[in-house]
Amino acid sequence: MDVRAQFAMVMNLEKCIGCHTCSVTCKNMWANRKGTEYMWWNNVETKPGTGFPGSWEDQEKYKGGWEKRADGLKLKLGGKTKLFTRIFYNPDQPSMKNYYEPWTYNYSHLINAPDSKTQPTARAVSQITGEYMEIENGPNWDDDLSGSSKYASNDPNLDDREKKLLKELESVFMFYLPRICNHCVNPACVAACPSGAIYKRGEDGIVLVDQEKCKSWRYCVSACPYKKVYFNWNTVKSEKCIFCYPRTENGESTICSKSCVGKIRNLGVILYDADAFAKAMDSEDNDLIEAFKQAILDPNDENNIKAAESSGINAEWLKAASNSPVYTYIKELEIALPLHPEFRTFPSVFYVPPLSPVMAAAEAHEEIPSDADLRIPVKYLSKLFSAGSESVIEGVLKRLLLIRKYMRAKGLDEKAKLDEITDNSLLTKEQIEKAHRLFTQAKPDERFVLPQTFRAEAGEPYENQGLTGLGIKGKKGLRK
Ligand code: SF4
Ligand code: SF4
Repeated sequence: MDVRAQFAMVMNLEKCIGCHTCSVTCKNMWANRKGTEYMWWNNVETKPGTGFPGSWEDQEKYKGGWEKRADGLKLKLGGKTKLFTRIFYNPDQPSMKNYYEPWTYNYSHLINAPDSKTQPTARAVSQITGEYMEIENGPNWDDDLSGSSKYASNDPNLDDREKKLLKELESVFMFYLPRICNHCVNPACVAACPSGAIYKRGEDGIVLVDQEKCKSWRYCVSACPYKKVYFNWNTVKSEKCIFCYPRTENGESTICSKSCVGKIRNLGVILYDADAFAKAMDSEDNDLIEAFKQAILDPNDENNIKAAESSGINAEWLKAASNSPVYTYIKELEIALPLHPEFRTFPSVFYVPPLSPVMAAAEAHEEIPSDADLRIPVKYLSKLFSAGSESVIEGVLKRLLLIRKYMRAKGLDEKAKLDEITDNSLLTKEQIEKAHRLFTQAKPDERFVLPQTFRAEAGEPYENQGLTGLGIKGKKGLRK
Protein backbone atom coordinates (compact mmCIF):
# COMPACT_ATOMS: atom_id res chain seq x y z
CA MET A 1 0.00 0.00 0.00
CA ASP A 2 1.36 3.41 -1.01
CA VAL A 3 -0.53 6.05 1.00
CA ARG A 4 -0.75 9.69 -0.17
CA ALA A 5 -2.55 12.70 1.27
CA GLN A 6 -4.59 15.05 -0.90
CA PHE A 7 -6.47 18.29 -0.34
CA ALA A 8 -10.01 17.79 -1.64
CA MET A 9 -13.28 19.67 -1.96
CA VAL A 10 -16.97 18.73 -1.95
CA MET A 11 -19.56 21.10 -3.42
CA ASN A 12 -23.19 20.50 -2.55
CA LEU A 13 -25.08 21.43 -5.72
CA GLU A 14 -28.36 21.43 -3.80
CA LYS A 15 -27.27 24.69 -2.25
CA CYS A 16 -25.62 26.63 -5.09
CA ILE A 17 -27.66 29.71 -5.93
CA GLY A 18 -25.60 30.69 -8.97
CA CYS A 19 -24.57 34.04 -7.53
CA HIS A 20 -21.02 33.88 -9.00
CA THR A 21 -19.51 35.38 -5.83
CA CYS A 22 -16.92 32.59 -5.83
CA SER A 23 -15.89 33.44 -9.40
CA VAL A 24 -15.58 37.14 -8.67
CA THR A 25 -13.58 36.75 -5.46
CA CYS A 26 -11.25 34.28 -7.16
CA LYS A 27 -10.78 36.62 -10.11
CA ASN A 28 -10.11 39.59 -7.85
CA MET A 29 -7.57 37.60 -5.91
CA TRP A 30 -5.69 35.75 -8.67
CA ALA A 31 -6.70 36.63 -12.23
CA ASN A 32 -6.89 40.41 -12.40
CA ARG A 33 -3.61 41.00 -14.24
CA LYS A 34 -2.79 41.76 -17.85
CA GLY A 35 -3.16 38.60 -19.90
CA THR A 36 -5.68 37.04 -17.50
CA GLU A 37 -8.71 39.05 -18.59
CA TYR A 38 -10.57 36.05 -20.03
CA MET A 39 -9.54 33.62 -17.28
CA TRP A 40 -12.00 32.33 -14.69
CA TRP A 41 -10.11 29.87 -12.53
CA ASN A 42 -13.46 29.40 -10.77
CA ASN A 43 -16.51 29.66 -12.99
CA VAL A 44 -20.17 28.78 -12.46
CA GLU A 45 -22.11 27.17 -15.31
CA THR A 46 -25.78 26.54 -15.82
CA LYS A 47 -26.61 22.95 -16.64
CA PRO A 48 -27.83 21.96 -19.16
CA GLY A 49 -25.50 24.18 -21.11
CA THR A 50 -22.29 24.18 -23.05
CA GLY A 51 -20.28 25.84 -20.26
CA PHE A 52 -17.01 27.73 -20.35
CA PRO A 53 -15.16 27.43 -22.66
CA GLY A 54 -18.00 26.36 -24.96
CA SER A 55 -18.47 22.57 -25.24
CA TRP A 56 -15.50 21.81 -22.95
CA GLU A 57 -16.97 18.36 -22.26
CA ASP A 58 -16.72 17.35 -25.92
CA GLN A 59 -13.49 15.34 -26.00
CA GLU A 60 -14.01 14.34 -29.60
CA LYS A 61 -13.42 18.01 -30.31
CA TYR A 62 -10.74 18.85 -27.71
CA LYS A 63 -9.14 15.43 -27.10
CA GLY A 64 -8.65 15.98 -23.37
CA GLY A 65 -8.23 13.36 -20.64
CA TRP A 66 -7.21 9.71 -20.78
CA GLU A 67 -8.41 6.82 -22.89
CA LYS A 68 -8.57 3.19 -21.86
CA ARG A 69 -6.98 1.24 -24.69
CA ALA A 70 -6.02 -2.40 -25.11
CA ASP A 71 -2.41 -1.53 -24.22
CA GLY A 72 -3.32 0.54 -21.14
CA LEU A 73 -4.29 4.07 -20.26
CA LYS A 74 -3.16 6.68 -22.82
CA LEU A 75 -3.65 10.39 -23.25
CA LYS A 76 -6.43 10.98 -25.76
CA LEU A 77 -4.16 13.61 -27.27
CA GLY A 78 -1.53 11.00 -28.12
CA GLY A 79 1.70 9.73 -26.61
CA LYS A 80 4.76 11.84 -25.86
CA THR A 81 6.41 10.88 -29.18
CA LYS A 82 3.38 12.14 -31.11
CA LEU A 83 3.32 15.35 -29.05
CA PHE A 84 7.01 16.01 -29.74
CA THR A 85 6.62 15.43 -33.48
CA ARG A 86 4.00 18.17 -33.68
CA ILE A 87 5.21 20.40 -30.91
CA PHE A 88 4.87 23.55 -33.00
CA TYR A 89 1.37 22.60 -34.16
CA ASN A 90 -1.29 22.13 -31.50
CA PRO A 91 -4.78 22.60 -32.94
CA ASP A 92 -6.69 20.77 -30.15
CA GLN A 93 -7.42 23.73 -27.92
CA PRO A 94 -10.18 26.28 -27.51
CA SER A 95 -9.96 29.51 -29.48
CA MET A 96 -10.89 32.95 -28.20
CA LYS A 97 -14.31 32.38 -29.79
CA ASN A 98 -14.84 29.35 -27.51
CA TYR A 99 -13.87 31.43 -24.48
CA TYR A 100 -14.93 35.01 -25.28
CA GLU A 101 -13.30 38.26 -26.23
CA PRO A 102 -12.78 40.05 -22.92
CA TRP A 103 -14.01 43.59 -22.74
CA THR A 104 -14.31 46.62 -20.55
CA TYR A 105 -16.35 49.79 -21.03
CA ASN A 106 -15.34 53.27 -22.10
CA TYR A 107 -16.33 54.76 -18.74
CA SER A 108 -14.35 57.98 -19.24
CA HIS A 109 -16.74 58.89 -22.07
CA LEU A 110 -19.53 59.23 -19.47
CA ILE A 111 -17.59 62.08 -17.84
CA ASN A 112 -15.75 63.61 -20.77
CA ALA A 113 -18.37 63.48 -23.54
CA PRO A 114 -19.17 66.87 -25.08
CA ASP A 115 -22.62 68.41 -24.60
CA SER A 116 -25.28 66.63 -26.63
CA LYS A 117 -29.03 66.08 -26.74
CA THR A 118 -28.68 62.43 -25.70
CA GLN A 119 -27.12 60.79 -22.66
CA PRO A 120 -23.57 59.57 -23.26
CA THR A 121 -23.11 55.81 -23.10
CA ALA A 122 -20.14 53.69 -22.19
CA ARG A 123 -19.52 51.40 -25.15
CA ALA A 124 -17.81 48.04 -24.87
CA VAL A 125 -14.09 48.11 -25.65
CA SER A 126 -12.09 44.96 -26.42
CA GLN A 127 -9.36 44.27 -23.85
CA ILE A 128 -7.39 42.58 -26.63
CA THR A 129 -7.49 45.16 -29.43
CA GLY A 130 -8.59 48.30 -27.56
CA GLU A 131 -11.25 48.82 -30.28
CA TYR A 132 -14.99 49.22 -29.78
CA MET A 133 -16.73 45.84 -30.08
CA GLU A 134 -20.09 44.13 -30.07
CA ILE A 135 -20.42 41.65 -27.18
CA GLU A 136 -21.27 38.21 -28.57
CA ASN A 137 -20.14 35.79 -25.88
CA GLY A 138 -19.15 35.69 -22.22
CA PRO A 139 -18.06 33.30 -19.47
CA ASN A 140 -21.66 32.73 -18.32
CA TRP A 141 -23.42 33.61 -21.55
CA ASP A 142 -26.05 30.89 -21.11
CA ASP A 143 -26.69 31.72 -17.43
CA ASP A 144 -30.07 30.50 -16.15
CA LEU A 145 -30.77 28.81 -19.51
CA SER A 146 -30.75 32.07 -21.43
CA GLY A 147 -30.69 31.22 -25.12
CA SER A 148 -31.34 27.59 -24.19
CA SER A 149 -32.36 26.55 -27.69
CA LYS A 150 -28.93 27.61 -28.93
CA TYR A 151 -26.77 26.70 -25.92
CA ALA A 152 -28.42 24.23 -23.53
CA SER A 153 -29.68 22.05 -26.37
CA ASN A 154 -26.07 21.59 -27.48
CA ASP A 155 -25.08 20.13 -24.10
CA PRO A 156 -23.34 16.84 -25.00
CA ASN A 157 -24.83 15.19 -21.89
CA LEU A 158 -28.40 15.50 -23.19
CA ASP A 159 -30.02 12.78 -25.23
CA ASP A 160 -32.64 13.49 -27.93
CA ARG A 161 -35.62 13.12 -25.58
CA GLU A 162 -34.12 15.57 -23.11
CA LYS A 163 -33.36 18.03 -25.90
CA LYS A 164 -37.07 17.94 -26.84
CA LEU A 165 -38.09 18.44 -23.21
CA LEU A 166 -36.02 21.60 -23.04
CA LYS A 167 -38.40 23.25 -25.45
CA GLU A 168 -41.34 22.83 -23.06
CA LEU A 169 -40.94 25.52 -20.45
CA GLU A 170 -42.72 23.63 -17.68
CA SER A 171 -40.37 20.71 -18.11
CA VAL A 172 -37.17 22.72 -18.17
CA PHE A 173 -34.66 21.68 -15.58
CA MET A 174 -31.53 23.52 -14.60
CA PHE A 175 -28.95 23.71 -11.88
CA TYR A 176 -25.62 25.40 -11.30
CA LEU A 177 -22.25 23.75 -11.63
CA PRO A 178 -19.33 25.69 -10.10
CA ARG A 179 -15.98 24.47 -11.43
CA ILE A 180 -12.34 24.87 -10.45
CA CYS A 181 -9.26 22.86 -11.42
CA ASN A 182 -9.85 19.44 -9.89
CA HIS A 183 -6.24 18.96 -8.75
CA CYS A 184 -6.59 15.50 -10.20
CA VAL A 185 -4.89 12.45 -8.77
CA ASN A 186 -3.88 11.46 -12.32
CA PRO A 187 -3.71 14.85 -14.07
CA ALA A 188 -3.59 14.73 -17.86
CA CYS A 189 -2.12 18.26 -17.88
CA VAL A 190 0.97 17.04 -15.98
CA ALA A 191 1.41 14.04 -18.25
CA ALA A 192 1.10 16.08 -21.47
CA CYS A 193 3.51 18.92 -20.63
CA PRO A 194 6.61 18.47 -22.86
CA SER A 195 8.66 20.78 -20.60
CA GLY A 196 7.80 19.15 -17.29
CA ALA A 197 6.60 22.53 -16.08
CA ILE A 198 3.43 21.25 -14.41
CA TYR A 199 3.78 19.22 -11.28
CA LYS A 200 1.64 17.71 -8.55
CA ARG A 201 2.90 18.50 -5.08
CA GLY A 202 3.56 15.40 -3.07
CA GLU A 203 2.58 16.82 0.29
CA ASP A 204 -0.93 18.02 -0.57
CA GLY A 205 -1.65 17.04 -4.19
CA ILE A 206 -2.03 20.62 -5.46
CA VAL A 207 -1.24 20.85 -9.20
CA LEU A 208 0.87 23.88 -10.15
CA VAL A 209 2.55 25.37 -13.23
CA ASP A 210 6.17 26.45 -12.82
CA GLN A 211 6.16 29.83 -14.55
CA GLU A 212 9.93 29.69 -15.11
CA LYS A 213 9.83 26.32 -16.85
CA CYS A 214 6.68 26.80 -18.95
CA LYS A 215 7.67 27.00 -22.63
CA SER A 216 4.22 27.96 -24.00
CA TRP A 217 3.50 24.67 -25.82
CA ARG A 218 -0.05 24.69 -24.39
CA TYR A 219 -0.42 20.89 -24.37
CA CYS A 220 -1.69 21.25 -20.81
CA VAL A 221 -4.59 23.33 -22.17
CA SER A 222 -5.38 20.61 -24.69
CA ALA A 223 -4.93 17.64 -22.36
CA CYS A 224 -7.00 18.97 -19.45
CA PRO A 225 -10.48 17.57 -20.16
CA TYR A 226 -12.00 20.19 -17.85
CA LYS A 227 -10.27 23.05 -19.70
CA LYS A 228 -8.97 24.48 -16.46
CA VAL A 229 -5.51 25.54 -17.64
CA TYR A 230 -5.46 28.95 -19.30
CA PHE A 231 -2.81 30.57 -21.45
CA ASN A 232 -1.68 34.06 -20.45
CA TRP A 233 -1.15 35.94 -23.71
CA ASN A 234 0.91 38.60 -21.95
CA THR A 235 3.44 36.45 -20.09
CA VAL A 236 3.06 33.60 -22.66
CA LYS A 237 2.83 31.08 -19.81
CA SER A 238 0.05 28.74 -18.73
CA GLU A 239 -1.83 29.49 -15.53
CA LYS A 240 -4.44 27.73 -13.44
CA CYS A 241 -6.17 27.49 -10.07
CA ILE A 242 -3.56 27.08 -7.34
CA PHE A 243 -6.02 25.87 -4.68
CA CYS A 244 -5.15 29.16 -2.95
CA TYR A 245 -1.95 27.53 -1.67
CA PRO A 246 -0.71 30.64 0.18
CA ARG A 247 -3.93 30.31 2.21
CA THR A 248 -4.35 26.53 2.37
CA GLU A 249 -0.70 26.00 3.37
CA ASN A 250 -1.62 27.91 6.50
CA GLY A 251 -4.80 25.98 7.17
CA GLU A 252 -7.05 28.68 5.69
CA SER A 253 -9.88 27.84 3.30
CA THR A 254 -9.68 28.66 -0.42
CA ILE A 255 -11.14 32.07 -1.20
CA CYS A 256 -13.99 30.58 -3.29
CA SER A 257 -14.97 28.48 -0.27
CA LYS A 258 -14.65 31.36 2.17
CA SER A 259 -16.80 33.70 0.08
CA CYS A 260 -19.41 31.14 -1.00
CA VAL A 261 -22.82 32.60 -0.28
CA GLY A 262 -24.63 29.26 -0.36
CA LYS A 263 -22.01 27.66 1.93
CA ILE A 264 -21.91 24.79 -0.52
CA ARG A 265 -18.17 24.11 -0.23
CA ASN A 266 -16.37 21.74 2.11
CA LEU A 267 -12.61 21.28 2.31
CA GLY A 268 -10.59 18.49 3.81
CA VAL A 269 -7.89 15.88 3.42
CA ILE A 270 -8.33 12.45 1.90
CA LEU A 271 -5.84 9.61 2.20
CA TYR A 272 -5.59 7.33 -0.80
CA ASP A 273 -3.72 4.26 -1.88
CA ALA A 274 -1.79 5.18 -5.03
CA ASP A 275 -1.41 1.51 -5.98
CA ALA A 276 -5.18 1.00 -5.81
CA PHE A 277 -5.72 4.16 -7.85
CA ALA A 278 -3.41 2.95 -10.59
CA LYS A 279 -5.60 -0.17 -10.86
CA ALA A 280 -8.85 1.84 -10.52
CA MET A 281 -7.99 3.96 -13.54
CA ASP A 282 -8.11 0.81 -15.64
CA SER A 283 -11.65 -0.19 -14.54
CA GLU A 284 -14.60 -0.32 -16.91
CA ASP A 285 -16.72 2.85 -16.91
CA ASN A 286 -19.50 1.24 -14.86
CA ASP A 287 -17.07 0.23 -12.11
CA LEU A 288 -15.07 3.45 -11.95
CA ILE A 289 -16.85 5.09 -9.01
CA GLU A 290 -16.63 1.98 -6.84
CA ALA A 291 -12.96 1.50 -7.74
CA PHE A 292 -12.21 5.14 -6.92
CA LYS A 293 -14.00 4.87 -3.60
CA GLN A 294 -12.06 1.72 -2.75
CA ALA A 295 -8.80 3.61 -3.32
CA ILE A 296 -9.77 6.28 -0.77
CA LEU A 297 -8.73 5.00 2.64
CA ASP A 298 -10.52 5.05 5.97
CA PRO A 299 -8.42 7.55 7.98
CA ASN A 300 -9.45 5.93 11.27
CA ASP A 301 -8.33 2.41 10.38
CA GLU A 302 -5.22 1.35 12.35
CA ASN A 303 -3.51 -0.33 9.37
CA ASN A 304 -4.10 2.70 7.16
CA ILE A 305 -2.73 5.03 9.84
CA LYS A 306 0.44 2.92 10.16
CA ALA A 307 0.88 2.82 6.36
CA ALA A 308 0.32 6.59 6.17
CA GLU A 309 2.92 7.20 8.90
CA SER A 310 5.45 5.08 7.06
CA SER A 311 4.74 7.18 3.92
CA GLY A 312 5.76 10.25 5.91
CA ILE A 313 2.31 11.73 6.56
CA ASN A 314 2.51 13.57 9.85
CA ALA A 315 0.17 13.55 12.85
CA GLU A 316 -1.46 16.90 12.07
CA TRP A 317 -2.47 15.66 8.62
CA LEU A 318 -3.71 12.35 9.98
CA LYS A 319 -5.86 14.22 12.50
CA ALA A 320 -7.26 16.42 9.73
CA ALA A 321 -7.96 13.35 7.57
CA SER A 322 -9.79 11.75 10.46
CA ASN A 323 -12.09 14.80 10.77
CA SER A 324 -12.40 15.41 7.05
CA PRO A 325 -15.89 16.47 5.92
CA VAL A 326 -14.83 15.44 2.41
CA TYR A 327 -14.25 11.85 3.54
CA THR A 328 -17.63 11.92 5.28
CA TYR A 329 -19.41 12.99 2.09
CA ILE A 330 -17.60 10.53 -0.21
CA LYS A 331 -17.23 7.39 1.86
CA GLU A 332 -19.40 7.52 4.97
CA LEU A 333 -22.52 9.05 3.46
CA GLU A 334 -21.72 8.05 -0.14
CA ILE A 335 -23.41 11.11 -1.61
CA ALA A 336 -20.53 12.91 -3.36
CA LEU A 337 -19.23 12.04 -6.82
CA PRO A 338 -16.49 13.37 -9.13
CA LEU A 339 -17.31 15.21 -12.34
CA HIS A 340 -16.88 13.10 -15.48
CA PRO A 341 -14.94 10.23 -13.92
CA GLU A 342 -14.70 8.68 -17.40
CA PHE A 343 -11.98 11.22 -18.21
CA ARG A 344 -9.92 9.10 -15.79
CA THR A 345 -7.91 11.96 -14.31
CA PHE A 346 -9.67 11.28 -11.01
CA PRO A 347 -10.65 14.69 -9.69
CA SER A 348 -10.16 15.71 -6.07
CA VAL A 349 -13.25 17.90 -6.31
CA PHE A 350 -16.55 16.11 -5.70
CA TYR A 351 -20.19 17.09 -6.04
CA VAL A 352 -23.41 16.24 -4.22
CA PRO A 353 -25.81 16.00 -7.19
CA PRO A 354 -28.90 18.23 -7.07
CA LEU A 355 -32.12 16.68 -5.83
CA SER A 356 -34.65 19.50 -5.51
CA PRO A 357 -36.88 18.99 -8.53
CA VAL A 358 -36.77 15.25 -7.94
CA MET A 359 -38.56 15.61 -4.61
CA ALA A 360 -42.14 16.12 -5.84
CA ALA A 361 -41.94 13.17 -8.22
CA ALA A 362 -40.25 11.04 -5.61
CA GLU A 363 -42.87 11.85 -2.96
CA ALA A 364 -45.63 10.75 -5.30
CA HIS A 365 -43.89 7.45 -6.01
CA GLU A 366 -42.42 7.02 -2.52
CA GLU A 367 -39.11 6.05 -4.12
CA ILE A 368 -36.90 7.11 -6.99
CA PRO A 369 -39.29 7.48 -9.92
CA SER A 370 -38.44 6.38 -13.41
CA ASP A 371 -36.15 8.46 -15.55
CA ALA A 372 -39.10 9.68 -17.61
CA ASP A 373 -40.78 11.20 -14.52
CA LEU A 374 -37.82 13.15 -13.23
CA ARG A 375 -37.20 16.76 -14.08
CA ILE A 376 -33.48 16.21 -13.73
CA PRO A 377 -33.20 12.86 -15.46
CA VAL A 378 -31.05 10.24 -13.73
CA LYS A 379 -29.48 9.53 -17.10
CA TYR A 380 -28.36 13.14 -17.41
CA LEU A 381 -26.82 13.16 -13.93
CA SER A 382 -25.13 9.84 -14.66
CA LYS A 383 -23.42 11.30 -17.71
CA LEU A 384 -22.02 14.06 -15.52
CA PHE A 385 -21.12 12.26 -12.32
CA SER A 386 -20.90 8.47 -12.72
CA ALA A 387 -19.57 7.66 -16.20
CA GLY A 388 -23.10 6.68 -17.24
CA SER A 389 -23.88 4.36 -14.32
CA GLU A 390 -27.49 5.12 -13.40
CA SER A 391 -27.47 2.80 -10.40
CA VAL A 392 -24.75 4.95 -8.77
CA ILE A 393 -26.87 8.09 -9.18
CA GLU A 394 -30.00 6.31 -7.93
CA GLY A 395 -28.09 5.24 -4.82
CA VAL A 396 -27.04 8.83 -4.12
CA LEU A 397 -30.52 10.25 -4.75
CA LYS A 398 -32.09 7.62 -2.48
CA ARG A 399 -29.76 8.67 0.32
CA LEU A 400 -30.52 12.36 -0.23
CA LEU A 401 -34.24 11.62 -0.17
CA LEU A 402 -33.86 9.67 3.06
CA ILE A 403 -32.14 12.63 4.70
CA ARG A 404 -34.97 14.94 3.62
CA LYS A 405 -37.73 12.57 4.67
CA TYR A 406 -36.14 11.92 8.05
CA MET A 407 -35.62 15.57 8.86
CA ARG A 408 -39.15 16.44 7.81
CA ALA A 409 -40.63 13.65 9.93
CA LYS A 410 -38.47 14.83 12.83
CA GLY A 411 -39.64 18.41 12.35
CA LEU A 412 -43.26 17.24 12.39
CA ASP A 413 -42.59 14.98 15.40
CA GLU A 414 -43.75 11.89 13.50
CA LYS A 415 -41.94 9.35 15.71
CA ALA A 416 -43.32 6.20 14.06
CA LYS A 417 -42.27 7.45 10.67
CA LEU A 418 -38.75 8.15 11.94
CA ASP A 419 -38.24 4.47 12.79
CA GLU A 420 -39.69 3.43 9.46
CA ILE A 421 -37.33 5.75 7.59
CA THR A 422 -34.21 4.67 9.46
CA ASP A 423 -35.06 1.00 8.92
CA ASN A 424 -32.91 0.87 5.80
CA SER A 425 -29.52 -0.32 4.71
CA LEU A 426 -28.40 3.00 3.26
CA LEU A 427 -27.96 5.43 6.15
CA THR A 428 -28.18 5.15 9.91
CA LYS A 429 -29.95 7.72 12.09
CA GLU A 430 -26.55 9.07 13.19
CA GLN A 431 -25.37 9.40 9.61
CA ILE A 432 -28.54 11.25 8.62
CA GLU A 433 -28.12 13.67 11.53
CA LYS A 434 -24.47 14.16 10.59
CA ALA A 435 -25.38 14.86 6.95
CA HIS A 436 -28.06 17.31 7.99
CA ARG A 437 -25.64 19.16 10.21
CA LEU A 438 -23.07 19.39 7.40
CA PHE A 439 -25.76 20.61 4.98
CA THR A 440 -27.34 23.22 7.19
CA GLN A 441 -25.57 24.17 10.40
CA ALA A 442 -21.88 23.30 10.20
CA LYS A 443 -19.62 26.19 11.15
CA PRO A 444 -16.53 27.01 9.05
CA ASP A 445 -14.25 24.93 11.29
CA GLU A 446 -16.40 21.87 10.53
CA ARG A 447 -16.67 22.55 6.80
CA PHE A 448 -13.03 23.49 6.30
CA VAL A 449 -10.63 21.10 8.01
CA LEU A 450 -7.20 21.82 6.60
CA PRO A 451 -3.90 21.13 8.34
CA GLN A 452 -0.88 23.32 7.82
CA THR A 453 1.26 22.04 4.97
CA PHE A 454 4.45 20.23 5.85
CA ARG A 455 6.42 21.94 3.08
CA ALA A 456 9.63 21.69 5.06
CA GLU A 457 9.21 17.91 5.27
CA ALA A 458 8.17 17.54 1.63
CA GLY A 459 10.62 16.14 -0.88
CA GLU A 460 11.69 17.52 -4.22
CA PRO A 461 8.41 18.50 -5.94
CA TYR A 462 9.75 17.81 -9.44
CA GLU A 463 10.61 14.21 -8.65
CA ASN A 464 8.09 12.68 -11.04
CA GLN A 465 7.10 15.67 -13.10
CA GLY A 466 5.88 14.90 -16.56
CA LEU A 467 5.31 11.27 -15.64
CA THR A 468 2.20 11.02 -13.59
CA GLY A 469 0.26 12.65 -10.84
CA LEU A 470 0.35 9.47 -8.84
CA GLY A 471 4.05 9.48 -8.34
CA ILE A 472 5.81 11.68 -5.88
CA LYS A 473 7.75 9.12 -3.91
CA GLY A 474 9.45 7.42 -6.80
CA LYS A 475 6.64 5.03 -7.75
CA LYS A 476 6.23 4.35 -11.43
CA GLY A 477 2.98 5.87 -12.55
CA LEU A 478 0.47 5.16 -15.21
CA ARG A 479 2.18 6.88 -18.05
CA LYS A 480 4.91 4.94 -19.81
S1 SF4 B 1 -6.16 17.80 -15.70
FE1 SF4 B 1 -7.00 18.02 -13.63
S2 SF4 B 1 -5.28 18.91 -12.46
FE2 SF4 B 1 -4.83 19.29 -14.62
S3 SF4 B 1 -5.70 21.34 -15.00
FE3 SF4 B 1 -7.23 19.82 -15.60
S4 SF4 B 1 -8.54 19.64 -13.79
FE4 SF4 B 1 -6.63 20.61 -13.12
S1 SF4 C 1 -20.53 31.60 -4.27
FE1 SF4 C 1 -21.29 29.58 -3.70
S2 SF4 C 1 -23.53 29.75 -4.03
FE2 SF4 C 1 -22.61 31.48 -5.16
S3 SF4 C 1 -22.27 30.62 -7.24
FE3 SF4 C 1 -20.37 30.27 -6.10
S4 SF4 C 1 -20.57 28.15 -5.35
FE4 SF4 C 1 -22.66 28.86 -5.91
